[in-house]
Amino acid sequence: MAKFSESIDRTWTLFLDRDGVINEKLDGDYVKQISEFKFINGSKEAIRKMNEIFGITVVVTNQQGIGKELMTEDDLKVIHHYMLSELALEGAKIDKVYHCPDLAEKNSICRKPNTGMAEEARKDFPAIDFKSSIMVGDSISDMQMGKRVGMITVYIHPDEELPKEADYVCKSLFELAEVLAQSLESGI
Ligand SMILES: [Mg+2]
Repeated sequence: MAKFSESIDRTWTLFLDRDGVINEKLDGDYVKQISEFKFINGSKEAIRKMNEIFGITVVVTNQQGIGKELMTEDDLKVIHHYMLSELALEGAKIDKVYHCPDLAEKNSICRKPNTGMAEEARKDFPAIDFKSSIMVGDSISDMQMGKRVGMITVYIHPDEELPKEADYVCKSLFELAEVLAQSLESGI
């Protein structure tokens, strides 16, 4: 992280994937209700820490469970309301959550690896500069989206396998927050 982390300040934006980064991913299924939404250990604290580093934090999440009609837009709203309230209880904040409900086969502009959600965020927050942004995700499509717009990409993987599409790898969002906070403190 040393190369870029010392230049991070409040002008930077943090883009977070949701499933597998903030909450546990369900294999072969979608989080369709609050009872299926389980925060990954340390992810709330990580977001709180990173709120002190980054000026803006947004979530960009593919949710084709809606396109598949396994859940509705309203179901997702309830889940995201829950996520944001639970984060707020820990003093952690996400400025806005963007989701793409479309099926993979539609190749919709909003579905990662396409860049629609990032573009949408930049419209809402004109201070966003993709060159001063980090995309954190656990899928290659997250890394591809980040790269397409010129972001730094951080891959979340338990065994720290660094794919060619990513700049850095971390075991978890918590570990990333620790690494960033430490390197900023020590000025590495
Ligand atoms: Mg994910």
